[in-house]
Amino acid sequence: MEEKQWCRFVVQSVSLMICAIVICFLYSGGFLKNMEQKAQADQVTSQVNSQDTYFKTAVKSELQSARIVTGGAISARSSKYISIPKSLVTTGATLYISDDYINSKVILSIRGNTKQKISLDRLVRVNGEKEFCGNPKKSRYDFVKKIEIKSSRTSKGKYGIDISMTTKKLYEPVLYETEKAYYISFADPLKLYDRIIVVDAGHGGYDEGATARNKNYKEKNYNLLIVEELKRMLDATDIKVYYTRLDDRYISKADRVRLANKLNADMFISIHCNWTDSSSANGVETLFSVRENNNDKMSNVRFAKIMLNDICDVTKQKKRKVIKREGLYLLHHSDVPAIIIETGYLSNRSDFSYLKKSSGQRQMARGIYKGIFEVYDVQKK
Ligand SMILES: [Zn+2]
Repeated sequence: MEEKQWCRFVVQSVSLMICAIVICFLYSGGFLKNMEQKAQADQVTSQVNSQDTYFKTAVKSELQSARIVTGGAISARSSKYISIPKSLVTTGATLYISDDYINSKVILSIRGNTKQKISLDRLVRVNGEKEFCGNPKKSRYDFVKKIEIKSSRTSKGKYGIDISMTTKKLYEPVLYETEKAYYISFADPLKLYDRIIVVDAGHGGYDEGATARNKNYKEKNYNLLIVEELKRMLDATDIKVYYTRLDDRYISKADRVRLANKLNADMFISIHCNWTDSSSANGVETLFSVRENNNDKMSNVRFAKIMLNDICDVTKQKKRKVIKREGLYLLHHSDVPAIIIETGYLSNRSDFSYLKKSSGQRQMARGIYKGIFEVYDVQKK
């Protein structure tokens, strides 16, 4: 063979071999199977994407049209949220959220819905790039621990639906809407607020606390009345306050202190009235534990002293003392600066007449209010 012919023969042979190998591979199914799987996968992905795109881009693209329904500021929205398509909610239905932060539970209530049921699968939980629906998942990205939907007939053809979501951590919920859906955003309170405190009205429910000489007067009620006065004052400030209770209900001591710890609150203030067998004992006391807290600028004893001084300065009630108490559950379990304020003795005629008057309760609240701000001020120095 000539050199030229020899070259052509070699090229043809190699080409033939390559063709044979390729054909063998295709017929063995590997390649075709892969192609098929890829095509199927593409199809699934595009199906998922069409849904994903809606939920993921909804917030961004509809940002301008988003409207707060209830629960906070539009700026408080976070990358964690749950979406409820508007197709599930009757036009004109009322929506509101209840924030049961003691139990890290947020309840969305829909009233006047003509649809009886909302399927759990239609509610999509989004955490950044991750999405979940249906029952809570074990993934650390799924921020919901438990989700329940309850429906009840409220009138002819109308239903009330409650969607309650227990979250793994404590979040600040905001309910807002866009053209296509309602959203509940779950934001970390620590990222939203510079100053957070927990105010605790002692006792509640069947735990009535101390009673005055006349058994109709119960400590739990006075604690709450003082807290209500304090709330009116604190509502006008930029301090975010979590109240352990704002009505007459029982809350365990563990739940109260857990709230303060979960929030890493700047202060935990538990408000009480005192009682003793001796009717002559009177005055204000603050109780503290020597247990170290997580704030190196505000020891519990310092906190107790500031508060006692300010309360007595404002109220002119007798400054009794700052008392070290190690056995008390709240003080013993708090990781944050914590005190118990004994605002006066219900067993004492003079203290009792002061505490049962709304002017006395208001003054007491004003003293506590002053103490709160002084605690913040001295930490700046
Ligand atoms: Zn008490």
